[in-house]
Amino acid sequence: MLRFQEVAKHGTLMPISTCSKTLIAGRYTIQQKLGRGSFGTVYLVSDKKAKEEEEQLKVLKEISVGDIKPNETVEANLEAQLLSRLDHPAIVKFYTSFVEGESFCIITEYCEGRDLDFNIQQYKEAGKVFPESQIVEWFIQLLLGVNYMHERRILHRDLKAKNIFLKNNLLKIGDFGVSRLLMGSCDLATTFTGTPFYMSPEALQHQGYDTKSDIWSLGCILYEMCCLDHAFTGHNFLSIVLKIVEGEAPSLPAIYPRELNTLLHSMLSKDPSQRPSAAEILRIPYVRDQLQNMKCKFTNMTLKDPALNSQEEAAHIINVVQKKVHLQTLRALSEVQKMTPRERMRLRKLSIADETAQKLKQLAEEKYQENLKRMQELRSRNFHHVNIDVLHEPDEQTAEHLIKSQPVTTLNYLSIGCEDQSDSDTTGRLCMSDPVERGKRLILYAVLIPHLVKAR
Ligand code: ADP
Ligand code: MG
Repeated sequence: MLRFQEVAKHGTLMPISTCSKTLIAGRYTIQQKLGRGSFGTVYLVSDKKAKEEEEQLKVLKEISVGDIKPNETVEANLEAQLLSRLDHPAIVKFYTSFVEGESFCIITEYCEGRDLDFNIQQYKEAGKVFPESQIVEWFIQLLLGVNYMHERRILHRDLKAKNIFLKNNLLKIGDFGVSRLLMGSCDLATTFTGTPFYMSPEALQHQGYDTKSDIWSLGCILYEMCCLDHAFTGHNFLSIVLKIVEGEAPSLPAIYPRELNTLLHSMLSKDPSQRPSAAEILRIPYVRDQLQNMKCKFTNMTLKDPALNSQEEAAHIINVVQKKVHLQTLRALSEVQKMTPRERMRLRKLSIADETAQKLKQLAEEKYQENLKRMQELRSRNFHHVNIDVLHEPDEQTAEHLIKSQPVTTLNYLSIGCEDQSDSDTTGRLCMSDPVERGKRLILYAVLIPHLVKAR
């Protein structure tokens, strides 16, 4: 998997062609550069294979990855495949990803209303504030999006106003799951060097990251929408971090309802377990009432059966996991591909030798089983015979015969149970290796000897 640091290290690598006529991946042409972010450069592109006209404009995120290994690309693509299946009106649609030259490219939905950070700055500069109804509507949209992703065990890890976009005045969360796509299971907090404004105390202290860390960031965004300023500010990185880790949670101005302020405080609890989940927030009466008001507007957001979707996606996730198992085989194959011809020849010879050994082993096993069966048959026949002799005191003749034919010495007791000596080579191994059988035979002799001696 790619690492954030690797991206930064190779940040100056050859970019994909910015010439507007160049067709990328056989279908995208660059319209304009939208900006640069922590992951790479972002372009507005036109998709000539778009199914619908409104889907023609898309966003291409180009991440320079330098010497990306083929299997890392495969893994990133599998994650991307998973993300592309997700569909929610409050989440920026992730279409696809591919490797172009030395870049890893992600194609997403285009949001013409720019990001929330830009809109907040504009309002602030104009001396305006967002109406409370607008804030609550936006906040609920974000909650629905976060809840949808958390239900599917996907974390954002980098929720911030710059990752939230406006489209037809609806908010959409961008880059959901993308950090994982680029960093694997690596914790963002361990490599992240960007803005700390939205980072939770546990992430800053490297104490792990989970859904509740996303909730902290969402609390910071709620505060920012109300106050047009960051929830935790400071003159430098360290003072911001100290406020987040040790400072008190800020309060909303009195013009906002008490319920919203209480909710904000719970989302900014230092202890993650004290923070409510997105689903729990959606059940708080104040939020639920607002959601009711929004219902007509967002029927498609709330009426979808989440259980049905989760099930479908769970099946897909299982499928992806299975593919990952298959990837191990691919990896083994790629190891072979890296070998020199001589090494490959040696490997081939070794595998032929292995096959032959396997066949011989199987043959030996078959012979062994055959002999074992034969032995058991013979033994049960002899055992039966001896038993009769024990139970019915042998007459002189029989005893004499027994002693003559089977002289009783501890040295050759092993020959008991073997019809003739010619078989002893193969059966000997079995007799010797079977202490239980050997024990049984010794007991038999112990019982027999007094009888035989008496009989003499
Ligand atoms: P960051 O690392 O800060 O999250 P991004 O790489 O996500 O930055 O984005 C860089 C720039 O591209 C930003 O100015 C952002 O507003 C813009 N941008 C990113 N994604 C989209 C999108 N889906 N629609 C419109 N603009 C976008
Ligand atoms: Mg972003």
